[in-house]
Amino acid sequence: MKAGLFYGEKDIRVENRPTPEPGPGEVLIGIKAAGVCGSDLHNYRGNRAATQDVPWEQGHELAGVVEALGSGVNTLSVGDRVGIEAEHLVGCGHCRECVRGDYHICPERGIVHGSRHGSHGFSSHDVTVASNCFPLPDHVSFDDAAILDCYACGVHAVNRTPVPVDGTTVIVGAGAIAFTLGQVAKAYGAGRVIMIGTRPEPLQTAIDAGAADQVIINATEDPVQGVLDRTDGEGAEVVFETVGGESQLIAQCTAMARRGGTVSVVGLFTQPQTLDSQTQGMAKELVLTWSNSYSSWQGISEYQTALDLLASDRLNAAPIITHRFPQSQIAEAFVAADDKRTSGAIRVVVNH
Ligand SMILES: [Zn+2]
Ligand SMILES: [Zn+2]
Repeated sequence: MKAGLFYGEKDIRVENRPTPEPGPGEVLIGIKAAGVCGSDLHNYRGNRAATQDVPWEQGHELAGVVEALGSGVNTLSVGDRVGIEAEHLVGCGHCRECVRGDYHICPERGIVHGSRHGSHGFSSHDVTVASNCFPLPDHVSFDDAAILDCYACGVHAVNRTPVPVDGTTVIVGAGAIAFTLGQVAKAYGAGRVIMIGTRPEPLQTAIDAGAADQVIINATEDPVQGVLDRTDGEGAEVVFETVGGESQLIAQCTAMARRGGTVSVVGLFTQPQTLDSQTQGMAKELVLTWSNSYSSWQGISEYQTALDLLASDRLNAAPIITHRFPQSQIAEAFVAADDKRTSGAIRVVVNH
């Protein structure tokens, strides 16, 4: 197979490697599409733990075709087109969290056959547990299915924090997670979605893509005042934070939330956060919650829910997937994803 191998920071190579064989309960996938996620860029920018083996494979937003079955697999057939739930979300299956379906917060999440494992969407082939494969209807493309991982994160966020039908939902951030979350929120009946970002171009795309009804450009308008101005001074019932990183945005989110409202943290922050517990949290009696990846909700797979919404045209992936590169140009794919201001990318997909 043609393995996409990451040697550290910007050194990505495509090399011939033996195609892996599926073990019991596993299948071999011929990958067709893989999205470049923000967490892939975290590694690309040199932030990967030095203890990891070099080179490594990655790519957890993926879709492809089943090419071989391991022993005991009877739910899939060779030739099936499938979307693949990220393998770093596999739980141990027996802890309290796994038993109640919250395997995304299993303390042993991502351990397969005793060692840490993830999906390898940037390689031409990957072995994955059969239960992580979701058959795709014929009209759902591999590219669209590759970002079901993002959509499932949106489904989980909205399951944990229901969006108001007759109120205001704010999404802070204008990246792929903000877009997918916005579309999911609208599909779940959100009355008005306001998206906040820095650049006008992706925000216009958000409106065109049905991910937002209104936008605030924080480079030219104070975002807290902007939300208050659009809500008769009351603030938003629900505020989703999707930026994370080194920012201090949770405080801003609490300031734009309405009394009794909810702030849901979807972005991954790398810095401790300072927020005003007294005048924001206590005075308005806010709910502050986090939403980490996805798993199942009331017994139903959130990945399957995302797929059902996509397959019934209630989600529109086309405007979100802005750039496509063949695996032979994976370096260019990462350059485009790394500098979205220059490339104009929202989600970049690598094809095999
Ligand atoms: Zn991701
Ligand atoms: Zn577990």
